Amino acid sequence: MHDVVIVGAGPVGLFVAGELGLAGCSVLVLEREPEPHTPWRSFPLGMRGLSGGSVEALYRCGMLPALLTASGVPETPVSDKPAPPRTVGHFAGMMLDPADVDLARLPYRLPSPASDGIMTSLEAVETVLAERAEKLGVEIRRGVAVTAVTQDGETVAARAGEQVYPACWLVGCDGGRSAVRRLTGFDFAGTEPQFTGYLALATLSDPEKLRRGFALTPAGMYVTMSEPGHFGVMDFDGGAYDRSRPLTREHLQSVLRRVSGTDVSLGDVHLASTFTDRAMQTTTYRRGRVLLAGDAAHIHSPLGGQGLNLGLGDAVNLGWKLAATVRGHAPEGLLDTYTAERHPIGARVLDWSRAQVATMRPDPHSRAVQAVVRDLLETHDGTTYVFERTSGTSLRYELGGEHPLVGRNAPDFRLADSTPLGELLRDCRGVALDFTAEGHLREAASHHADRIRYATGPALDDLGLGAVLVRPDGIIAWAGARTPDRGAFDRAVSRWF
Ligand SMILES: Cc1cc2nc3c(=O)[nH]c(=O)nc-3n(C[C@H](O)[C@H](O)[C@H](O)COP(=O)(O)OP(=O)(O)OC[C@H]3O[C@@H](n4cnc5c(N)ncnc54)[C@H](O)[C@@H]3O)c2cc1C
Repeated sequence: MHDVVIVGAGPVGLFVAGELGLAGCSVLVLEREPEPHTPWRSFPLGMRGLSGGSVEALYRCGMLPALLTASGVPETPVSDKPAPPRTVGHFAGMMLDPADVDLARLPYRLPSPASDGIMTSLEAVETVLAERAEKLGVEIRRGVAVTAVTQDGETVAARAGEQVYPACWLVGCDGGRSAVRRLTGFDFAGTEPQFTGYLALATLSDPEKLRRGFALTPAGMYVTMSEPGHFGVMDFDGGAYDRSRPLTREHLQSVLRRVSGTDVSLGDVHLASTFTDRAMQTTTYRRGRVLLAGDAAHIHSPLGGQGLNLGLGDAVNLGWKLAATVRGHAPEGLLDTYTAERHPIGARVLDWSRAQVATMRPDPHSRAVQAVVRDLLETHDGTTYVFERTSGTSLRYELGGEHPLVGRNAPDFRLADSTPLGELLRDCRGVALDFTAEGHLREAASHHADRIRYATGPALDDLGLGAVLVRPDGIIAWAGARTPDRGAFDRAVSRWF
């Protein structure tokens, strides 16, 4: 019997698996597809934007260099000051200028090689995550489709055909049509679609008839990507298109013509699929011994590309909490903080997607909203707001605590010998960083050495703090003043470890 069975070897399942493997748990990943490589996961159709927050998480785990190589992205040299973002993306197809981000509004940032988002592919992310998980002892079994899940108070089991896979815990990371979600009886609630989206790679006879990038039109929206013939179309049909039907070239061409208002012609269609903006979320992320993460727990339109980032955030948050639970040293209620912390973040992303859909609709009311939003996006405040929402910068869990950094991703603190915080976090323990000259917290931290790594010394920049306690997911659990309060430190340790 395994400690944990994970259903789905997508990016989220693989990240959770790696975190559990790091903590020494026995982990089995069951994946339906026999082959990890498909054209839907590699470039150009598998292209995905990773936000600064996701890049930071991968950096902390030591995976950034491998991911940059797999994605063909050059490493960014670390500058003396936090650098402005290279891209901000768009809101409802309206592009933003990174130069408009007001860096002064983003306090507590430190220079880091992971301060910006990158463009990558699902395949690159999965390759790097699978390699790490396997190195950490995780077994990935491909070609196994889970069809039943049963649990009692003590154990849970996944079934695939005649084969049964028992475990102490099961994590459903099996995507938007999750079997685990359905089989375990999770409630899935939300809003029905406004549009049918089409994504295709095709030969366009007259590509010059289409605009480059995003185009909001009186009939919907289309977008052309950098790879010739790679485009998306959003048709506001109320999601009426029957997606179980084979998608024909004629249908795709007629939708593209109608939405773009052109007579563009399609030649061969190499790959095409449909999606909608149905926005649903399970009401909880845990039922007994079954947990959900990633698209299995929440779905929404791919507009603004946030699903992968949201799912990786789930994985980072869940991994260490489940590991501590498996190993028997989790404080009471730790595992339930997973739903408490991540559910509101998921709900915010669903609303972000809905807000874009409401802005894009081809009707006079939405067109009026577009005009207002366009004006706002031309201001520093507007661009900075969107950047904060999409980059992960605004993420803050409600953990109490007076310092504004508590509940946020830790900045890339570096000790005077240049050791970055991330390097200290790579053994699934929390980290107490004590910047005081006399090692004020040394004695207090020594009582928790099995769960907390203690590091002391002046930092290159301590942001005016005396010490911080960082959870294994990189979140600041506690921040102490120049002379840190040992009692408050102890209370924070007992709460999380
Ligand atoms: C066109 C498009 C563009 C996007 N762009 C972005 C972007 O730029 N940025 C971003 O953050 N997000 C983006 N997304 C969303 C992102 O791709 C998903 O949110 C992300 O892949 C979810 O990861 P996951 O691991 O939860 O699920 P998935 O990637 O769907 O992985 C689930 C895995 O589970 C397996 N599985 C399913 N059922 C079973 C079963 N019964 N038994 C065993 N295995 C099973 C599947 O084969 C699959 O490998 C985009 C999505 C689309 C469609």
